Amino acid sequence: MKAIRRFTVRAVLPENLSALEEIAGNLRWSWHEPTRQLFARIAPELWQQVGHDPIALLGAVEPARLAELAADQGYVDWASHIREDLRAYLSEPRWYQSLDDSAPHSIAYFSPEFGIAAALPQYSGGLGILAGDHLKAASDLGVPLVGVGLFYRSGYFAQAITPDGWQLESYPVLDPDGLPLSVLRNPDGTPVQITLALPDGVLHARVWQVAVGRVTLLLLDTDIPDNEERLRSVTDRLYGGGGEHRLLQELLLGIGGVRAVKAWNDLTGTPAAEVFHTNEGHAGFLGLERISDLIGEGLTFDEALQVVRAGTVFTTHTPVPAGIDRFDTPLVQRYFSTDLLPGVDPQQVLSLGAEDYPGGSPDVFNMAVMGLRLGQHANGVSRLHGEVSRQMFNGLYPGFDAQEVPIDSVTNGVHAPTWTDPMLLALAEERLGTDDTTAADWANGQAVTDLDLWSVRTRMREQLVEDARRRLQAAWESQNPGGIAPAWMDELLDPSVLTIGFARRVPTYKRLTLMLHSPERLRSILLNADRPVQIVIAGKSHPADDEGKRLIQKLVQFASEPDIRTRMVFLPDYDIGMAQLLYPGTDIWLNNPLRPLEACGTSGMKAALNGALNLSILDGWWNEFYDGENGWAIPSADAAGDGAERDALEAEALYDLIEHQIAPRFYDRNSDGVPERWVGQIRHTLSTLSPELSAGRMVREYVTRLYVPATTFERRLTADGFAAARSLAAWKSRVRAAWPGVTVAHVDAGGVDAVPQVGDELHVRALVHLGGLSPDDVEVQLVYGRSHEGDDLTDVRHEALAVDEAEPGVDDPSVAREYRGTVELDHAGGFGYTVRVVPRNPLLISDAELGLVAVAS
Ligand SMILES: *Cc1c(COP(=O)(O)O)cnc(C)c1O
Repeated sequence: MKAIRRFTVRAVLPENLSALEEIAGNLRWSWHEPTRQLFARIAPELWQQVGHDPIALLGAVEPARLAELAADQGYVDWASHIREDLRAYLSEPRWYQSLDDSAPHSIAYFSPEFGIAAALPQYSGGLGILAGDHLKAASDLGVPLVGVGLFYRSGYFAQAITPDGWQLESYPVLDPDGLPLSVLRNPDGTPVQITLALPDGVLHARVWQVAVGRVTLLLLDTDIPDNEERLRSVTDRLYGGGGEHRLLQELLLGIGGVRAVKAWNDLTGTPAAEVFHTNEGHAGFLGLERISDLIGEGLTFDEALQVVRAGTVFTTHTPVPAGIDRFDTPLVQRYFSTDLLPGVDPQQVLSLGAEDYPGGSPDVFNMAVMGLRLGQHANGVSRLHGEVSRQMFNGLYPGFDAQEVPIDSVTNGVHAPTWTDPMLLALAEERLGTDDTTAADWANGQAVTDLDLWSVRTRMREQLVEDARRRLQAAWESQNPGGIAPAWMDELLDPSVLTIGFARRVPTYKRLTLMLHSPERLRSILLNADRPVQIVIAGKSHPADDEGKRLIQKLVQFASEPDIRTRMVFLPDYDIGMAQLLYPGTDIWLNNPLRPLEACGTSGMKAALNGALNLSILDGWWNEFYDGENGWAIPSADAAGDGAERDALEAEALYDLIEHQIAPRFYDRNSDGVPERWVGQIRHTLSTLSPELSAGRMVREYVTRLYVPATTFERRLTADGFAAARSLAAWKSRVRAAWPGVTVAHVDAGGVDAVPQVGDELHVRALVHLGGLSPDDVEVQLVYGRSHEGDDLTDVRHEALAVDEAEPGVDDPSVAREYRGTVELDHAGGFGYTVRVVPRNPLLISDAELGLVAVAS
C-alpha cells in the first residue's frame, strides 16, 4: 500500500541533548568528521542505514537509546563541545575577514542545482556538486555569500536497472520536514511569499532556508496551496520537463530568486548583494529583475543595464551547444508581455537573448548569450574550457580574434573535507598533525611510510567492494522478492585487484562505452591471470535520453556475462553517498570524453584527493594538471579521419596503457607486498595535486579575480545617484551611433631598412577618421605579432598609438587625425602588423566588450 501523503514527526530530544538539534540543523555535519562521529555514536548501524543523515537518525532512534545517552555525561559533554565548535566556526574571523573594503559585502550565488549532501538530493551531476562545494568552501573562507536555488519535490530521479540493463526512473517525493530546512517567515510568523505575475495567473513560492555552515541557501518552492494545481508542479523535478516548464523554472529561479534574496536581506538585516553570480545560464533572468528594480529607481533600461552588467558574474559550463538552454522566442515574448517585470519592454528582453550573429537562429532565445550580455565578468571552468568558450562565443564579438573574447577561466575545485575519506583524514591527523589533507606533508616518508599509505588505500578499496556487494545484492533482492541471492554475488569484485572507477552522467561525449570498443581485449585485461583488473561503473542517463540508456544497457549486458560478472559491475543510482566511497576505493579513475567537450570534470579531482591516480584524455582539468607522474594521459586522436576511427585509436591507447603500464606497476610489489613505485605516485599526487584541486583555491580565485573587480565596477557606476551609469549608457549609444564613420584611412611605416634586423624600430603612422568621436573615446592600436604563411598573426600584441594633439583642424570631423607609434622588432622571423580602432572607456574590461572595431584594410 502506498501512502498518499507523508510527513516526518521530529523526535523530542531529552533536554540535555538539545545541542544535537542545533548541530543537526546546520549542514556542516555533512563535511565535518567530528560531528559525523558524534551522530554515528548514537546508533552506528542505524547511521549507516539512514545514509549518514542526522535528522533521519534522530527521528528513527529508539527513545530508550536517547535516554541512555542523556544519562551519559561523557556523551553530553561531547555534544556540547561540538556545539561550541560549530558556534565558533560560524562566528570567528576567517580568510575573507582579512580582505579590505574593496571586497563585496555580500554575493548572491544562483544555481539550478545544489549537491550538498546525500540527504538533500537537489542535483543531477557535476554542476550541482560544484555549486555545493562552492558554498561549503565559501563558508570555510568566511565569504559572505547567499545561495539561491529551487526546491525540487522529487529532486532529480532515482535509478534502478532492470535485469536486461534498462534504466528505470522513479521520483521519490521528498518531505521537507524531514530535511534540515526551515521556512523563511515574516516577523508575524507567516511564510514569506514570492510572487511572479504570469500571463494566466500568479505564481507563488515559499522560500526554504538551508544552513550550509556560515552560508544560507534559499530554495524556492511552488508546491503550496496558494498555487493552482498546474503551477504547483513548477518545482516538481530537476530538468524534468521541456520548453515551457523549464522556462517557468528559470523565471522563478532568476526573478523570484532576486526577490527572495531581498526579502531575506530585509528580514535578517544582512547587507544587500553587490555581486550576482550565475552558475551557468539558467538563472540569467536575475539580471532582468535587477534592471526592473533600477528602472523603478529612475534609470532607463540602458542605464540600468550598465549597473547590472558591472555587478554580474556569469560562469559558463558547457562547450556543447546542446547543453545551452534555448527557448522559442514567442514563448519568451509571451511571458514578458505581462506585468512580470514592471518597466521592462519585452523587445529589450528579447534582444538580450537574440542570436543576432552569423549562424544564429532568429527564432531562438539563448540563455548563454543573454548571460554574456548581462554579465560583464564571465568565465569558463578550466583553462582549456576558457579557450573553447572564447571560440564558441566569438560570434558575439565580430572583428576580434577568439583570444580577445572577454571570457576568463577559473578552474573548478572540490571541497576536500567533503570528499576525502575519513581513513585518509585520520592518517593525516595522526601522523602529519593536520586535519587539512590538502596541506599535509605527504612526502614525509618517515611520518607516513609506504606501508601506512598502502594499508589505508587497501582498506578504502575493501570498503568500496563491500559497498558494491551490498548495493548489488539489495538491487537483486528488490527484483527477486523473497529470493536468495546467488552465491557468486558474495564474490563480486576482489579487494586485492587493481580497481578502475568510471562514473558520470551519460551524455554521448563522455563515451561511457569506449572501453567496450574491443570486447575481447577488455575481457583479456580483466581476466589476466597474473595481473587482473576490475572496473566499477555508475552513472545516470537523462530520462529523455534513450541513446544514453542504450549505452548503459550495453555495459550492463557485457558486465553480466558469467566469466566477467565479478570483475565488472554497474552500480545503480550514482549519488553523493556512493561517490564518497567510490572515489577513495579506486586505484585508477578513468575519464575518456571526446576532447575538448569536458569543460572541467571534477570526479577525477575527488579521486586524486584520495590518492587515486587518473587515467584520462587530456581534457578539462587534466589538460592543465597532468604532469607525467600523477597518472596517465590517453592521447587524443585529433587527426583521426572520423569519429569511429578516433574511438578506435583512443580505445586502443586506453587498453595499452592499462595492460602495459598500469597493471604491471600496480602488481610490482616489494617484500611487504607494497607497490613502491605506485605508492610514490600516490604521494606525489597527494602532495602536489591536492592543494591545487581544493575548492578553497577556486573560491579565493573567484573572490579576487571576479567578485572584487565586479564590486569595484558596480560601486563606481552606482555612486552619486548612478552618475557614471548614466554617462556610460550615453557614451555607449553615442559611440555605437558614430561607429560606422570610424575608419583607418591610411597607414605607413618607416625606420627599418630593406633588410630589417632584430633591434630595429618600426615607426608607424596612421590617419584615422573618428566619425565625430573625440580621441578620448577611442584607442588606436598598432596590432603586431608573428606572421607566417596566410595572414593570421600569432603571439599578437597591442600598442596604443599617440594622437597629435596640436594638429590643426582637429575640430573638423571630416579631417583625419594622425596617430604615431614605434615598436621594436625584438625577434627574428616573420613579422606582421595592422592598425585598428577600438572604443576606450575605463569602465570597459576588454577591447572587445562592445564588439566594435575598425581595422585598416
Ligand atoms: C563529482 C560528481 C559528479 C561530476 O563528475 P564529473 O567528473 O564532473 O562528470 C557527478 N555526480 C556525482 C555524484 C559527483 O559526486
